[in-house]
Amino acid sequence: MKKDDCIFCKLANGDIPTRIIYDDDEFAVFMDAAPASKGHALVVPKDHYCCLFEIPEEKAAKAIKIAKKVAEKMKEELNIDGLNIVQNNGEVAGQTVFHYHMHVIPRYKADDNNGVIKWNQHEYDDATMDELQKKLTF
Ligand code: AMP
Ligand code: ZN
Repeated sequence: MKKDDCIFCKLANGDIPTRIIYDDDEFAVFMDAAPASKGHALVVPKDHYCCLFEIPEEKAAKAIKIAKKVAEKMKEELNIDGLNIVQNNGEVAGQTVFHYHMHVIPRYKADDNNGVIKWNQHEYDDATMDELQKKLTF
């Protein structure tokens, strides 16, 4: 299903032209318009899901399969030193476009953007860690 006023629905389905690098029945991959690095691409389903919490499991699995293909292509074609896969969910997590997408970001040693994916490291006490482990085990 598409959402009327969603820019990524339009881009992924070809209603607005963009720099597509991969296209199939369910997904498009296009270049990020404000890239973190040379080659930064977005894996985008053609149907509208806000985020990881809405996308069906099989489709999420397909997204990572395509991201791997994109990554292999970047490794082959660009002189990359590394690569990040990032997928933001919710405003607090940095999501700005509320149509599920997976960033594939090539990384280069010489770049000035080493801090692009950065967070503060914390040390929580054992009780907190135990509680978190207990809550999250399934
Ligand atoms: P996020 O912050 O995870 O929601 O990522 C949204 C990404 O979409 C950002 O990296 C933007 O640069 C990118 N973006 C926004 N609008 C467009 C557009 N029209 N075409 C391509 N990329 C876009
Ligand atoms: Zn959409």
